[in-house]
Amino acid sequence: MKCPRCGCNAIKSKTSSVTDLGDVLIIIRNVPCYQCEHCDEIIYTGDVIANIERFVNAAKTLHQEICKNPALLRFAARGVRGCGDVA
Ligand SMILES: [Zn+2]
Repeated sequence: MKCPRCGCNAIKSKTSSVTDLGDVLIIIRNVPCYQCEHCDEIIYTGDVIANIERFVNAAKTLHQEICKNPALLRFAARGVRGCGDVA
């Protein structure tokens, strides 16, 4: 795989994909990619981009459902508090 930015060799690697949707920050770890040995440019293959988009769209839908459903929101908040609290 050649780097589209500088034309050097890009090798198989893994990275974290971060998508900022404003209210939601989606971080996907261990995403397969190619990384340029020269300029560190990250290159995704087409199927990986499609998978990231599918994941981001699913998270967007989930976020909308949580926001319009007060019961789910209470459930989510309880889950967060439950992490550090000793009941
Ligand atoms: Zn490069």
